[in-house]
Amino acid sequence: RSIAKFYYLQAETAFNLGKSPLKYANKSIKICEKNKQIIEYEIKNYDLLSEVYKRRNKYRKALEYYEKKEAIVDSLLLLNQSSSKRLTDIQPIQDFNLEEEKKLNKEKDELKKYNPFGKNTTVIFIAIFLMLCVIIYLLASYNFEKKKHNAELEIKNKELKKANSIAKIAIEARDKFLNTVTHEIRTPLYAVIGLSEILIENDPKPEQIKHLESLNYSGDYLLNFINNILQQNKLNSKQIILSNEDINVKDVTKNIINTLEKSSNPLNNSITYSFDKDIPNSLLGDKTKVTQILLNIIGNALKFTKEGKIEVILKLKEKNKNNVTIIILVKDNGVGISLKDQKKIFDSFTQINEGQSPIASSGLGLSIVKKLVNLLKGSINLQSEVNKGSTFAIEIPFKVNQNPQKEEVKINYNKDYSKYKMLVVDDNKVNQMVTNKYLQQLKISSDTASNGKEAVDKVKENQYDLILMDINMPIMDGYEATKEIRGLDIKTPIIALTALSFELSVKSLEEKGFNNFITKPFKKEDFYNTITSYLTRKKK
Ligand code: ADP
Repeated sequence: RSIAKFYYLQAETAFNLGKSPLKYANKSIKICEKNKQIIEYEIKNYDLLSEVYKRRNKYRKALEYYEKKEAIVDSLLLLNQSSSKRLTDIQPIQDFNLEEEKKLNKEKDELKKYNPFGKNTTVIFIAIFLMLCVIIYLLASYNFEKKKHNAELEIKNKELKKANSIAKIAIEARDKFLNTVTHEIRTPLYAVIGLSEILIENDPKPEQIKHLESLNYSGDYLLNFINNILQQNKLNSKQIILSNEDINVKDVTKNIINTLEKSSNPLNNSITYSFDKDIPNSLLGDKTKVTQILLNIIGNALKFTKEGKIEVILKLKEKNKNNVTIIILVKDNGVGISLKDQKKIFDSFTQINEGQSPIASSGLGLSIVKKLVNLLKGSINLQSEVNKGSTFAIEIPFKVNQNPQKEEVKINYNKDYSKYKMLVVDDNKVNQMVTNKYLQQLKISSDTASNGKEAVDKVKENQYDLILMDINMPIMDGYEATKEIRGLDIKTPIIALTALSFELSVKSLEEKGFNNFITKPFKKEDFYNTITSYLTRKKK
């Protein structure tokens, strides 16, 4: 047995070293064949030889040895079936079985070694399963929360959209309401301001003058207030369109100072001005907005200064061929504004020195000024000290007008306008009378019509030098009447005279056949300047 084993091991070693094991294997087999009790090495040798021939691609030989080995194994199995007792008694088979069992156990151990979970596999699998369950649960609940959140967001979004459209409707309703209300207030105001103005100039009794002046002042204040509210509304809803017209900032400033000095200076302030001589006469900008800014700032200086000094200075900050920036300084030595209050005064409806000025105010002026200045791409700054005075510095950029127009024709009150005849179209009898009174002051004769249809009929029958046309009228409105008149090829200038509060533009009215517009109530000088410019233009 030992020799058979020895030769077998020799053969196996030779095989492992890549040498031929045949010599040793055959010697081992010979010994095994002689001694039937050591078939274990016989099987091993056959196995080895079968492998050797398989590697040498000699399959027939390999098969031969394999079959030899199988035959022995089969005979062993048969023996085992007939008498297991006997077989197990046979020492070599016992050894062989033991050896196989050991091998199997070894393989099992090896396998176990490579199994990272070892005995705890089941526990680990359960843990992983549980963890997966938890993850799935978490994912599901997260998904559910997300869906819930999304649904809530969608509802909120819908609510927001609804609120938005309600707000839009409300804003539209507010604008419509404001337009209607201001139109309705302006119409009777036209009578109040116009009639008081006419009565003052018609030699009233001395005791009546004060009352008439108060009436005129109250009307003016109310008109200003309404205009401010309207302006504020327009600025907030960004409905503003900037015009780009010829503007002489020095003239505008001078005119405002003259007007305010005469009409809004009950606190007896002196007011002086000085202008940088390099400021070009003809610039391009929005004249109305610049006027509004100056009116408010200079008006405030006159309101909050008593028997003091107000200076208006125009400086040129930058100038090139096409653009200039002008700094407007309005200095007063009035009540002044504390540092704390300076932050608030540009907010709507803020009045710091309430009651300090006898001139009525609403607290809207500076908030409008700030918005207007921003709109013009300018800036406004304030320096002030309580009881010392205030200086407002406004910077506004303008374009230089490369094609300046001729000087505006100014009203000449000494001129005889009696040869002119005008048609006044207005459905309000009081307003007809007020307009006619204004015209009578220039000795201009006039006819009246109470609606568009009457106006068209009168225009067909008479020759007029100018037509003043209201817009909102029953039966036929001013737009329709103007269209019909132009349809008759009548070129008479037509000026819209209206209390409509929305911003009228010359361009849109020109497209409708009008030549210009005047809003009621108006400043007498503006009214006269506009109509006489058309009357004299025609006669030329
Ligand atoms: P108001 O219609 O009251 O003049 P503004 O918005 O124009 O409204 O001004 C707001 C407030 O700022 C005024 O009520 C006044 O207290 C203060 N204020 C404005 N300008 C001057 C000034 N030149 N001197 C002193 N206080 C001023």
